Amino acid sequence: MVKLTEGRGKELFRKYGVPVPAGVVVASADAAERAVRDGTVPLPCVVKAQVLAGGRGKGGAVRFAATPEEARAAAAAILGTAFQGETVREVLLEAKATISRELYVSFALDRGLRLPVLMASAHGGVEVESVADAEIDRQPIDPFPGLAAYERRRAARVLGLAGPLARELDRLLADLYRLFDREDAELVEINPLAVVGEHLLALDAKVIIEDDAAFRHPEYATLADDRTALEEIAREKEIAFVQLDGNIGVIANGAGLTMATLDVLKEFGGAPGVFLDLGGTDDPKKVTEAFLLMAKAKPRAVFLNIFGGVTRCDTVANGLVAALASVPASERFPLVARIRGNNEAEGIAILRAAGVTSVPSLRDSAQAVVAAAQGAA
Ligand code: ADP
Ligand code: MG
Repeated sequence: MVKLTEGRGKELFRKYGVPVPAGVVVASADAAERAVRDGTVPLPCVVKAQVLAGGRGKGGAVRFAATPEEARAAAAAILGTAFQGETVREVLLEAKATISRELYVSFALDRGLRLPVLMASAHGGVEVESVADAEIDRQPIDPFPGLAAYERRRAARVLGLAGPLARELDRLLADLYRLFDREDAELVEINPLAVVGEHLLALDAKVIIEDDAAFRHPEYATLADDRTALEEIAREKEIAFVQLDGNIGVIANGAGLTMATLDVLKEFGGAPGVFLDLGGTDDPKKVTEAFLLMAKAKPRAVFLNIFGGVTRCDTVANGLVAALASVPASERFPLVARIRGNNEAEGIAILRAAGVTSVPSLRDSAQAVVAAAQGAA
């Protein structure tokens, strides 16, 4: 998922004519002070952590500064800290607006309706999840004609805007919809959209680009995100691979079984450290690649929990045996297997021939792998 930080979102806003405060993204306290001193950012200003998590305002990651020294101090206080697990590497400095009202508007893809939806609420500035449903107006947009004038007028009414402010909203929504459409977004959200004097100003920006359209946006390919190096390799190979904090590797097939396996390991005191979802794969080459990646994550033990449905157990077992053989001796790990379902007996026999025992009970196999991981620790 390509989720843009506020700073990048606001760059897009500028490009499409959505009004945002004058501002700049910097990565050091020095640069923060300089940006204020050289007038790039007027005073008073706001210093905002550029992380993907919301709730920064409440969490102390949005600070105000009235002097260059204060801007520097605010940046120094935020940079390098962790906000909800995300290290703050950049801050956005921008002009502080004098807000008279905080509103909410967004365009989001509604997967149920299979349409974009324009959401508007007069209760902006708080997390939209905490706003009562009845306080949020939702208008499905027909993507073929696009956003209609009467839909924009209804939003103005909902937001309590009239006169010049209503006209500004009209333009802003048209621009924002154009951004949503042309940039292949699945969400563009302004919260808060502030009324500042006689004008509207987007004080926050949340933009998520639709995953399936990412190939049309090479500009985001280098976007630093929170994928680990191994996850990055896995992504290129189209392998569903996620690293966690623990020390047990999990190889399963299908998201449901994979998640359930993680839960069961936790239940028995284990700490899943990396998991790999083989999905419907029985392509031996892909299974081998997946296995080698798993080895690189250096798990203390690996739990292989496979249900043979569409993919037959013997096919999976053959792939696994080939994969195991290709893991260098120095990267081997204790392996507990549980392989059930279609052609189970054949699959178990193939594994056994390769020295891997399949433990049929989920409880026993999960406990065995937890013990193996702890024993090796
Ligand atoms: P988050 O959604 O992560 O809490 P916001 O960007 O929405 O972060 O900022 C939180 C609050 O801080 C806003 O609701 C607004 O009241 C205030 N704020 C943010 N940017 C500005 C700004 N440029 N000028 C004045 N107030 C701001
Ligand atoms: Mg916000």
